[in-house]
Amino acid sequence: MKKSIQFIVITAPSGSGKTTIVRNLLEKIPELEFSISATTRDKRPHETHGKDYYFISIPEFEKAIENDEFLEWEEVYPGKFYGTLKSEIERIHKNQKLAALDIDVQGSFNLKKKFENQLVSFFIKAPSLEVLRQRLMDRGTDSPNDIEMRLAKAQFELQFENRFDFIIINDNLQNAVNQIINKLKEIGLIK
Ligand code: 5GP
Repeated sequence: MKKSIQFIVITAPSGSGKTTIVRNLLEKIPELEFSISATTRDKRPHETHGKDYYFISIPEFEKAIENDEFLEWEEVYPGKFYGTLKSEIERIHKNQKLAALDIDVQGSFNLKKKFENQLVSFFIKAPSLEVLRQRLMDRGTDSPNDIEMRLAKAQFELQFENRFDFIIINDNLQNAVNQIINKLKEIGLIK
């Protein structure tokens, strides 16, 4: 593993298939370990504290900010905070693994500015906004209003795509996963 690179960051507008891609990468690459973020949003029924997220209260989150415990944090949705804990990255490095961060576009962008040479970043995007709209509709978890909001946010976030190291178009899950694996091999981060 290249010693200077400490983590890989995977980011994408909502509905681009990022979570499924990250899950696939973790199954296929033994060198990778998922960085579990802290969040103040409610736990969903299928989620586990300490596996998907560390679910904490807003006062706990504020205390962690005060104590400088975050590598980065963002208010991703109004009143919902998400952050990468420094202790999480240390835990992963102690395991001699490469940390994989699944974080929003703004958080990734900030991290990229701060740790330019220590991370590799991937920006995942749907083939077009129309495909993205269709995927959000098929997912069936958002109201028409929410879908329009997510699309507007996606359009805004797409402006930043060129700031990331690699842009991956998610037209097909296996294709996208293989493209990321190949890039990581090319730069010598994995075997
Ligand atoms: P969800 O609530 O759907 O799990 O995640 C919402 C968004 O927050 C996703 O784009 C996810 O990547 C992002 N996110 C998760 N953890 C973090 C984090 O630690 N920092 C930042 N900036 N974004 C995060």
